[in-house]
Amino acid sequence: MKDSIENLRAVLARQRDACLASPYPELRQRRRALKEVREALSRYQDRLAAAMSDDFGRRSEFECKMLDVMFPALQIDHALANLRRWMKPQKRHTDWLFLSNSAKVVYQPKGVVGVIAAWNFPVVEAVGPMIMALAAGNRVMIKMSEFSPRSTAVLREMLAELFPEDQVAVFGGGVEVAQAFASLPFDHIVFTGSPAVGKEIMRAASANLTPVTLELGGKSPAIVAPSANIAAAARSIAHGKAFNAGQACVAPDYALVPRERIEAFVAAAVSAFQQMVPNPVDDPEYTCIASDRHAKRVHELLDDARAKGATVTSCGTGNGWRVVPMQIVTNVTPDMRIMQEELFNPILPVVACDSLDEGIRYITARPRPLALYYYGTHANEIKRLERDVHAGGMTVNDWAWHVFQGDLPFGGTGNSGIGSWRGPEGFRALSHGKSVLRMRRWFPIGLFRPPYGTRVQRLISKLFLGHPDPALNIPCSYENECEPHGYDSTVQETSREST
Ligand code: NAD
Repeated sequence: MKDSIENLRAVLARQRDACLASPYPELRQRRRALKEVREALSRYQDRLAAAMSDDFGRRSEFECKMLDVMFPALQIDHALANLRRWMKPQKRHTDWLFLSNSAKVVYQPKGVVGVIAAWNFPVVEAVGPMIMALAAGNRVMIKMSEFSPRSTAVLREMLAELFPEDQVAVFGGGVEVAQAFASLPFDHIVFTGSPAVGKEIMRAASANLTPVTLELGGKSPAIVAPSANIAAAARSIAHGKAFNAGQACVAPDYALVPRERIEAFVAAAVSAFQQMVPNPVDDPEYTCIASDRHAKRVHELLDDARAKGATVTSCGTGNGWRVVPMQIVTNVTPDMRIMQEELFNPILPVVACDSLDEGIRYITARPRPLALYYYGTHANEIKRLERDVHAGGMTVNDWAWHVFQGDLPFGGTGNSGIGSWRGPEGFRALSHGKSVLRMRRWFPIGLFRPPYGTRVQRLISKLFLGHPDPALNIPCSYENECEPHGYDSTVQETSREST
């Protein structure tokens, strides 16, 4: 009943009515809501961590708390510190023809925001967008993943303690509920999940012209440059595959390593993983593959790679099913599934790469990744990657940390997503930036009204458009700057005369 499609519609109708009754929550109300969420996260941290662990079969308690509980708490601290500034209408310049009037942008709540979460960080993917939506004065409906039913139950209880259903509501249910949810006429949808389902969401949202923020995934490369400290790079990348057992959207998907250093890199990565996770099967802090379906895929990917000639080095002993230590794959070829699909697990393909140019060619020939990692010391190489390679975000000499900065937007580009719900950009994405121009009483608006053709109107028109006959125009003092490089005005003039 709670997760029925009729109920989704009924709750949306109630949230809409509530928006109309209270369209612009004041700063004080928004801050109070955020503080209550922060306090509840602290109170519920053990129950949330236990529920997430149950959903996964086993999940590191520290990682549950650090990422799914502490990260939203820090996000709230950042929002509380900046909300007054974000909400403040922004004064803008009028065009000089309209001088004496005043212009500003007012950030208005969009209304009801629909949030669809994935299963890998179920709390942060639901609560994170919700925090920003509440900060922007919206109401929120959340659809959790069918793979995280226990997390859904605890989160629903926690948020129901804080908010009436017409402000925040949480839904569970299967894919059919998710499909119905995506087709509701929200004022904005924030979706976290795969690029394939992201396209479905966009299609469903287009029927209502609902704007979307799509937090998707992809194959995020880690470039190990010749100047890199191999041991440090291997330790960082192994951490990226050990954290949540590689089931993170920004985990390094594959490594590009100079051919002559691959052996040293593999040895260092094995050793680093074994130091962090000496006994994967019995370690309560090493996370399982989230479901039998996902485990089956991991083993199929490895079988496919082996069958096509790859060498697989296991960084420890697993249990043959859902406990999988990092698997380093060398001698990879493009036809292997591990090089075609986003991995989202502890498999690490290592691709030989002899120069930065080769690495850039490899990355840019593929869909744009969510994250890009560079290990090395050359400032000019870092600058090239910053400017020339499209990726959602980038950390230099480690993985993922750019995601945890409250003031930075986090989101993808191209196949890895659209928009961001974090940082100042997130506040703006979930607000409507309304342009407001206030006309002053003494502004001579009559000059723009008919009957047209008065002397002043002709003068204004001439001033801005010039005369239709270029010969009668006053030469533009910026002429040379306006022309593109290489334009030769004498050649142009001559050819015009000769025709
Ligand atoms: P998924 O796309 O299969 O599912 C995501 C959500 O969409 C789930 O809640 C699911 O119930 C729902 N859903 C599934 N089919 C749907 C449909 N047809 N219409 C509407 N909703 C539908 O993804 P997943 O397996 O849960 O998560 C893994 C993917 O998510 C990976 O690609 C990963 O990179 C990505 N991801 C991205 C981020 C990010 O912040 N960019 C974070 C986490 C995960």
